[in-house]
Amino acid sequence: MSRLRVFRLGSLFVILLIVAAILVILDAYARGQFSSNATISSTHFELSGIEKEKAEEVLQQLESNYDRIGRDLKIQPAMKIRVYVYTNRWAYGRATGNWTAGGNPEGPEIIHLLWNGKNTGQNAIHEFAHTVTLRLLINQAPQPLDPAEFDKKFATLPVWLWEAVALYEANQAHNPLLFQYMSNGKYPSLQELNQRSKGAKIYDVGFTLVEFIEYKWGHDRLIQLLLEYGDLQKVLNISEDEFSKQWNEFIVKAEKTPSSIRGR
Ligand SMILES: [Zn+2]
Repeated sequence: MSRLRVFRLGSLFVILLIVAAILVILDAYARGQFSSNATISSTHFELSGIEKEKAEEVLQQLESNYDRIGRDLKIQPAMKIRVYVYTNRWAYGRATGNWTAGGNPEGPEIIHLLWNGKNTGQNAIHEFAHTVTLRLLINQAPQPLDPAEFDKKFATLPVWLWEAVALYEANQAHNPLLFQYMSNGKYPSLQELNQRSKGAKIYDVGFTLVEFIEYKWGHDRLIQLLLEYGDLQKVLNISEDEFSKQWNEFIVKAEKTPSSIRGR
């Protein structure tokens, strides 16, 4: 073997070694080995993944909304909720298989959350509202629960309703008139709002959908609508198209739009 060849093989080996080392470090990073592993507890939650001071801030926000959301959705969680916070998208994606969202519930007692600076607490409240909604639906399903059957049924819950409730409970409101499509009459249909990939408009306007339902039909019908998996015809006696049209009118007609929206 020539000296040159030995030299080339040697360089290749060193490069491979460096690549392997980088992969090991990135993997450890993704598994959160460089962030805090300590679990911080509060009355109703256990949180891990971030340092104590930040964790306590998020927990404080969750606790101060815990009773209200339980009251709103007419159910209290059965157990302590585990909250896993990830400080980078790779770690979050790797743990959840979810590469685009910023958080997701895993069943009614686990929340996965991507750290999002000062918005993390509000995002945690949003995911908590999802877990409470899930608990509401699980509890009214035939018992003993058949998880496969429940999953099949749960998949029929419209995204617009699922997200609107969480956005409303987490007070994630935007003035809908700031979105051109709401003021020029080209408002999205519920079908469009169900497709997160199509511009994810539900996150812009979801809050106002619940506000509209509460204004026109009252809170109990909102809960009933959840329990009936978004069947507008059955619960509110209205077609999807008519519902969207009236919702848009509710937004556009200033005198009907509650000040909570207009002030934002
Ligand atoms: Zn959500």
